[in-house]
Amino acid sequence: MLPVERRKQIVTWLNQEGALSISEISKRLNVSEMTVYRDIKPLLEEKKIIKTSGGISLTPITNDFLNACTYCLKESNNRHPVQIILNDLRVEQLCCPHCGLLRYKDIEKDVSQIICRDFLSHSTVSARMAYYLMDADFNLSCCQPQVLTFESLKHAEQFQKGFGGNIRRFQEAVEEIQKRMNGEHDCTCHK
Ligand SMILES: [Zn+2]
Ligand SMILES: [Zn+2]
Repeated sequence: MLPVERRKQIVTWLNQEGALSISEISKRLNVSEMTVYRDIKPLLEEKKIIKTSGGISLTPITNDFLNACTYCLKESNNRHPVQIILNDLRVEQLCCPHCGLLRYKDIEKDVSQIICRDFLSHSTVSARMAYYLMDADFNLSCCQPQVLTFESLKHAEQFQKGFGGNIRRFQEAVEEIQKRMNGEHDCTCHK
């Protein structure tokens, strides 16, 4: 693995797990702790990560940034945000899977990771591996057409039993939401 790849991997873990110790990172990457320190130096200098008592974590995002969706610009305290990590390690916050998928489509080539949350367990899951439920009879109070994300087909089907809707995989969901938006940027949430 090249240093740049290791850096990307470290940021991905931090996004998923919050914080990590240097020794844990060195173990996972199978490199020395010195190498880990060298790898994360640029991240520290650019203030993408901070040192904590136990190791390192991502720099806490300010409230302004957390609340504004990169795609629809709506302020949101929705509990189902999507994060996109770009190849240059910048992180974008999207208010809901609807905006996450549309934003992904716009900048596909620059996307390193796209992370969403399981609707039921709230655990983080790679959006590329997630299952998407559309047209369910449940209002998330965010953008329409609404998309719900699930980490497993089982969760999606359990929810579908109660609330209906259609289950899709990542690419299908991206295409479907794009088709329905018909190239328009304006989701109904957009004020
Ligand atoms: Zn949005
Ligand atoms: Zn939204």
